[in-house]
Amino acid sequence: MIDVDGLRKSFGDNEVLKGIDFSVPAGSVTVILGPSGSGKTTILRSLNALDRPDSGIVRVADVTIDFGGPYGKADIARYRRQSAMVFQNHNLFPHKTVLENIIEGPVIVQKRPRADAVAEAERLLADVGLTGKRDDHPDQLSGGQQQRVGIVRALALQPKVMLFDEPTSALDPELVGDVLKVLKDLAAQGWTMVVVTHEIRFARQVADQVIFVDDGVVCERGTAAQVIDEPAEDRTRQFLRRLL
Ligand code: ADP
Repeated sequence: MIDVDGLRKSFGDNEVLKGIDFSVPAGSVTVILGPSGSGKTTILRSLNALDRPDSGIVRVADVTIDFGGPYGKADIARYRRQSAMVFQNHNLFPHKTVLENIIEGPVIVQKRPRADAVAEAERLLADVGLTGKRDDHPDQLSGGQQQRVGIVRALALQPKVMLFDEPTSALDPELVGDVLKVLKDLAAQGWTMVVVTHEIRFARQVADQVIFVDDGVVCERGTAAQVIDEPAEDRTRQFLRRLL
């Protein structure tokens, strides 16, 4: 579903991604681990073109872009539609209701019929345990509920791939479990997911592949059992020791 080949990105003089390669099979969950500042978020944002890589060939579902070569706005728009991103701080519009937040993308951007978008939103809200919340405003919900709305909003775009950037790290500890449960349900439904997280237990339970990124390179990659329980690289061991 995803192929990343030679992904590079600098911000000014700061080379953040130094040639990243990995693949993500359809229907699988990849967890990206690594120290703060190692480039994890930039990888995820590159998969959605929120950051434009300097070079590298990236395929996301049906669209391949050679970021070193010429590409146009239409290519980027098609590339971006393949995936949807869930942010650490959900980024819901505070003055809009839950329903309005969810259907904005499908109705305004994707021009889908409003009735279809509403029906889909209600079905997805039920799936994540938020039946009856459609007319609330975000500030009437707990942080965990808001984050579940953020996930529904991404799902409503009907992407091929779901990208999660530290989806639980802004939550109070007692709210983390509900959000991870939603991610587990999505994995069980067969979604292709890439998740940046420090939740090692979640990675052990759900990840088909774990990628350890350090200083802009993929330092180690394998199953959770390999990378977390029997890391081959010193840097991976040091990182995990601090986390566990
Ligand atoms: P991680 O997700 O692993 O914490 P990031 O991908 O967020 O790492 O950041 C990697 C590096 O890139 C950091 O040094 C960060 O300061 C830098 N960086 C990220 N985004 C920008 C930006 N928009 N402008 C300048 N520097 C950035």
